[in-house]
Amino acid sequence: MNDDASPVHDPARRRLLGTLAAAGLAGVVPRVHAKRSRPLGVALVGLGYYSRDLLAPALQATKHCRLAGIVTGTPAKAAEWQRRYGIPDRNVYDYAGFDRIVENSDIDVVYVVLPNHLHKPFTLRAAAAGKHVWCEKPMAMDAAEARAMIDACRQHRVQLAIGYRMQHEPNTQAVMALARSRPFGRLRHIRAEAGFHGFDGASRDTWRLDAARGGGAMYDMGVYALNAARYTTGAEPVAVTATSSVERPEIFRGVDETMRFRLEFPDGVTAACETSFGRNLNLLRAECEEGWYELSPFQAYEGVRGQASDGRRFDAVIGATPAQQARQMDADALAILERRPPRVPGEEGWRDMLALDAIFASARAGGRRVEIASA
Ligand code: NAD
Repeated sequence: MNDDASPVHDPARRRLLGTLAAAGLAGVVPRVHAKRSRPLGVALVGLGYYSRDLLAPALQATKHCRLAGIVTGTPAKAAEWQRRYGIPDRNVYDYAGFDRIVENSDIDVVYVVLPNHLHKPFTLRAAAAGKHVWCEKPMAMDAAEARAMIDACRQHRVQLAIGYRMQHEPNTQAVMALARSRPFGRLRHIRAEAGFHGFDGASRDTWRLDAARGGGAMYDMGVYALNAARYTTGAEPVAVTATSSVERPEIFRGVDETMRFRLEFPDGVTAACETSFGRNLNLLRAECEEGWYELSPFQAYEGVRGQASDGRRFDAVIGATPAQQARQMDADALAILERRPPRVPGEEGWRDMLALDAIFASARAGGRRVEIASA
């Protein structure tokens, strides 16, 4: 990657940044992408399941971005990834040394694939290093964190995209379009359910069971149902009632195993949503005045399928796993290259976090109706 205009390789720009930093004005200079060649270099931060099994393989199939660097706390993993993907030493970072990435012109994008409590700090650090940020769902722990992430990326003139891969999937996009074209009349009610039965024999030492690290079903799977309710209505929820429950208390301590929440949208539209670590759930269904449509599954890696009351089918196929991830990253890379907003910007994740804050508040209050802060 040859980016002569990057902050460190342009001596004049480096001097200017140094002067501004000394004056407490770091970050006020727009990033310049003078000679941006394709594809963009992506560094994955956190080399766990999703990076290893989905994103790294997907980055072998992308056209507009490529796996250029890694950030990990485990030296043995780094060596294995370097061998497998031909990643040079200069593009390998540990968490403590991550900020040196500012000097690395091979890396254009930092993709944060860490436990949820680390999304904000690493987004802030990546933005401060002048790197575009892709961040996994859920965007953050709460709306205030999400807002700080958006503000930091804006301040440093870098893009922020959230890893809601379904919004890049064609059958999902067809359903999203129905919110505007309304072939079945007015929308009345939505069901959105996302969950899986897990953790029976698993180690308890996982962040998905730890409240402080963003564990629980709502953060992990519930955001799929929440995001789907929003993209299916094409509207923002105004209030919610929620109840959380734990069916296996020996496993779930301090986090929700199941969350049921009912969102109220304008014009009397409602969404009954459920998420669980105890039950397999994968349904998105819209009831309208003159018909219905549904996707089931609505968020599987292998593909999304659906049908409608008029006989139409949602059966577009985009290829074998990890095609969704490749499609998402290529679209987000193109948005950077073409200097336009990504399909799923930080604001989209933030709106989910506004609703999520209200969902948790309602559940804590035993199901009391809580109004959702407006964006
Ligand atoms: P994982 O547990 O498999 O991997 C997490 C990685 O973070 C590991 O490499 C671990 O070593 C590292 N890590 C650094 N600090 C840590 C800490 N304090 N505690 C625990 N691990 C720490 O998790 P994952 O399944 O890869 O999920 C990572 C992120 O990706 C999450 O935000 C998750 O919601 C998201 N995700 C998204 C999808 C999707 O389809 N979009 C799918 C799976 C996961």
